[in-house]
Amino acid sequence: MKIVIHRGSHEIGGTCIQIFTERNSVLLDLGMPLSKETRELDVSNLRPDAVLISHPHQDHFGLIDLLDPDVLVYMGEVGKNLIDATRMLIGKPLHSNNFRYFKSGQAFAVGAFTITPYLVDHSAVDAYGFLIEADGKRIFYSGDFRAHGRKSALFEKIISHPPKDIDLLFMEGTMIHRKNSDFPTEAHVEERIFETIKDQDNITFLISSSQNIDRIVSALRACKRAGKTLVIDIYTAWILEQLKVISDHIPAREWDLVRVYASHRQDKKLTEHPEFFGDFRKRVYTHRVKKEELQACPRDFLFFAKMSHFKIIDLYKGEKRVNVIYSQWLGYLSYLDGDYYGAEAMAAYRNDPGINFVYAHTSGHATVEDLKRFAWALNPKALVPVHTDHNNGFQNIYSRVLPQSDGVSFDLDELIRLAVD
Ligand SMILES: [Zn+2]
Ligand SMILES: [Zn+2]
Repeated sequence: MKIVIHRGSHEIGGTCIQIFTERNSVLLDLGMPLSKETRELDVSNLRPDAVLISHPHQDHFGLIDLLDPDVLVYMGEVGKNLIDATRMLIGKPLHSNNFRYFKSGQAFAVGAFTITPYLVDHSAVDAYGFLIEADGKRIFYSGDFRAHGRKSALFEKIISHPPKDIDLLFMEGTMIHRKNSDFPTEAHVEERIFETIKDQDNITFLISSSQNIDRIVSALRACKRAGKTLVIDIYTAWILEQLKVISDHIPAREWDLVRVYASHRQDKKLTEHPEFFGDFRKRVYTHRVKKEELQACPRDFLFFAKMSHFKIIDLYKGEKRVNVIYSQWLGYLSYLDGDYYGAEAMAAYRNDPGINFVYAHTSGHATVEDLKRFAWALNPKALVPVHTDHNNGFQNIYSRVLPQSDGVSFDLDELIRLAVD
């Protein structure tokens, strides 16, 4: 069995690994790179039988547009729905790939491969690792994962009943040289949100990703405790609906704690695409909040926002400081607006006397300690690091680590021989 890491052997994001049997091949993820100093990928020449998408983050699916439309693209259905909604609301056409949906624990075949998805805890919903079997070999790909989110039970489940006889483990290592000690769990994040909003004199904006469901739940719980109302945009409301977050994790009556802020742009998309959104607009607007209501008593509200919302944030600056809880990876603050719109305004808030800038975030990725637990539980014959800035930093994680390079094909039997020698 031959394998090539096209990208991701020494960078975070843009992961793409190809596994070949004699007749077939599959790609593990086909992500958009986060860094500009990255290897060019000629997607049209990869010609896999199928692509397995681990989760709906751009750095894992972002290049599927470039595939031949016949290539099968496997992913979780919820994740696909979220990608569709994003594209609808920003006015992009939906992907025209040949999608297939899988379910956690249900094996499926692609040519000579048998693939079993494992639902994992991550900062995106519907995130999976994969067990890939072919030619008598067993490979496990971790995808992006962690052990400290609200779905941490999934991690404990895998390591207490790990897939056996793994030949090769591709494991992510985003956190190899990063710490998660300020906010070790989502509960710590919730506490900081609560502390910030409970006695606020003005509105609070919480800057995070709408796909980070754990974070929305933290915001809701903090609002409930502090007697505040959570304001979300149309996209976030759509996600909550799709995931039934309100009804499953939080009783339905707590929609009372949530109001929806409809921008003109998003509202236009809802009316333009009834075939996609159905009667969502009508239902969601029973919870609508208008600008005037927010401005009449801003201290009653926590606004779940994005970096691009800085113009709305600026409207509330005045005598009383506006709280901005920055609740995502700090690295985005060093980007320019051309890469992440709003990043420059957000970075400037740190020194703005009108803003009380608060940081509250726990990582979407496993800590060094949890990477160790995972690697030793799966006990592979060889471990190859991916999705990491430091693929030489894995030597303390596990004993049989063999870092690879992008674009260099290797033979699995040979790799195992090297690893166990
Ligand atoms: Zn990633
Ligand atoms: Zn991710």
